[in-house]
Amino acid sequence: MRKVYYIYNPKTRTYDRIYPTMRQRAMSYLRRLFVGMGLGAGCFIILLLIFGSPSEKDLRVENSRLLSQYHILSTRLDEALGVMQQLQQRDDNLYRVIMQADLVADALRSASYGKTNRYEDLMDMANAKLVVNTTQKMDLLSRQIYMQSKSFDEVVELCKKQDDMLACIPAIQPVANKDLKQTASGYGNRIDPIYKTVKFHAGMDFSANVGTPVYATGNGTVQKAGWEGLYGNCIVINHGFGYVTRYAHLSKIDVKVGQKVVRGETIGKVGSTGKSTGPHLHYEVHLKGQIMNPVNYYFMDLDADDYDKMIQIAANHGKVFD
Ligand SMILES: [Zn+2]
Repeated sequence: MRKVYYIYNPKTRTYDRIYPTMRQRAMSYLRRLFVGMGLGAGCFIILLLIFGSPSEKDLRVENSRLLSQYHILSTRLDEALGVMQQLQQRDDNLYRVIMQADLVADALRSASYGKTNRYEDLMDMANAKLVVNTTQKMDLLSRQIYMQSKSFDEVVELCKKQDDMLACIPAIQPVANKDLKQTASGYGNRIDPIYKTVKFHAGMDFSANVGTPVYATGNGTVQKAGWEGLYGNCIVINHGFGYVTRYAHLSKIDVKVGQKVVRGETIGKVGSTGKSTGPHLHYEVHLKGQIMNPVNYYFMDLDADDYDKMIQIAANHGKVFD
């Protein structure tokens, strides 16, 4: 509807109708338009200041979510580092002790990545402390995982070697000894059968008929095979890992020096050669140059009861054949 304008005329005391020009009308419209726009913009800014823009609000929500995720991540990293510590303790106190390996140095496990400050770029972030701290934990964990896997590789290698070791360690009796009846005398101070004085007996005697097979008690290489003074016909086997065994007073030798033998293989026959008072096998076990008590090296042959019985019989002083 078209607007009609009037103006008060004090002279005639009437309202005279006026007719504004196009220009005046346009100016009036523009004026009102600008005022409207100004008011609108003002309200918008006020609302923006009070409530924030939708995208800013989203960003704030996302930011707080990220922050709480960071906290969760940091806590989980702490847990992972705890598990790692348990692994390291088992590694140090169990696996490495059993395998007689050196411990992994703490310095190697906790070493950082060089000396330069890798975290400098992160320092100007809003939550720098949290981010740097979490990143440091992450780095420490990856370092420890790397070191631990290396350590386990080493332990596995040692276990494999231990397998060989188990095959080589003397672990059975050198003659068939059903019901342990062939056990004549053990290791230790005994009355010498010829001189009748107390003398150290360096091995164990098994009484058996001449010609009874004598077995290698572990895998190894023949080091000596021939006459050896008081031992008579004698075989010495080197098993590696510091172990050497001796089989003395044989009637027959079936192996040659340098020959590889496996546990249970027949290497010769029982006899009574050298300083001997009757057919028997004199058996010795040496570890790293020390003479051991052979009774502890039949563990693949004897169960716990037989082992006890064997110790009883071996303690018998009366049947040394030398
Ligand atoms: Zn003996």
